[in-house]
Amino acid sequence: MNVLVTGGAGYIGSHVVEELKNSGFVPIVYDNLSTGHADAVPEDVLLINGDIHDLDFLEHIMGEYEIDAVMHFAASSLVGESMENPGRYYYNNVAGTLSLLDAMRKAGVDTIVFSSTAAVYGEPEKWPIEEEFAVCPTNVYGRTKLMIETMLADYDMAYDLRYVALRYFNAAGASASGKIGEDHRPETHLIPIVLKTALKSRNSVSIFGTDYQTPDGTCIRDYIHVADLAVAHVLALKHLLNGGSSKIYNLGSEKGFSVREIIETAKKVTKVDFAVSEEKRRPGDPAVLIASSKKIAEELGWKPTHSEIEEVIASAWQWHKEHPQGYEE
Ligand code: UDP
Repeated sequence: MNVLVTGGAGYIGSHVVEELKNSGFVPIVYDNLSTGHADAVPEDVLLINGDIHDLDFLEHIMGEYEIDAVMHFAASSLVGESMENPGRYYYNNVAGTLSLLDAMRKAGVDTIVFSSTAAVYGEPEKWPIEEEFAVCPTNVYGRTKLMIETMLADYDMAYDLRYVALRYFNAAGASASGKIGEDHRPETHLIPIVLKTALKSRNSVSIFGTDYQTPDGTCIRDYIHVADLAVAHVLALKHLLNGGSSKIYNLGSEKGFSVREIIETAKKVTKVDFAVSEEKRRPGDPAVLIASSKKIAEELGWKPTHSEIEEVIASAWQWHKEHPQGYEE
């Protein structure tokens, strides 16, 4: 089974590529390397340097490599940037996915697993968040992902495209293989920033907001190990390949940790003390995001096995210690 993985050189995509290989699929990575890393793709996996806006090239690749299904990770994914530069997000995420879907239609590929986000829920009123809760994204990034989910549903109705949209909570951690991990440039995510500070490549960690309605005043998030996410993608793919219908699933650990708790756990795991400062809130951050992952547990049998917060941080720590500069390019 040949699976085209757009954005397969990125953080989550590369971990899914590793899991696809381990599960007997043949991943083929399609990535323009604008934010991904060629070194994140294993040597025995074909890496095609291409853009998702290039419909003709995509269609050609799908025919040439007899693609059975697509996994779609290629996207711009920074909340703050999406508010400052919405055009980039509508172009890369919405227009790019439209091009991908039309290439699939022309090439006769009708199966896709899509990388969505908890950002589609916006600021929910209660937790844990279930898939049936109202969607009301508070930032451009979340709105583009929700638009894509709508496109997928419409293509399913009109053209029998079958999809699974996976709404990730906070992906973190690194593969046990030690070969791949998180390397965003610039880095904006909490756990890598904390660990880079422990490595002394940053001076301190800023806590964005200490006046939230939470027990310690800082934001609470649900951190899910990227290896557990990768397993869910393969289960979703198998569901579709076995003839299953289109689905939307949350992916989280169902446990929430505050920013302060992450910092304290990181100090324990790394055995390094570092400076922390308290700053203003970051615009667009909801106070609490905690998933219910009951639906995918019941329907596909998915259960996170690496998402205890100490294990998540320890695996990320291992990666950052061994790759202090990230991928070498
Ligand atoms: N955060 C923080 N300092 C940082 C980076 C993030 O306090 O340097 C907070 C951020 O405000 C949010 C949480 O950590 O409440 C997780 O942020 P991240 O960017 O990792 O993921 P997001 O929840 O935005 O997807």
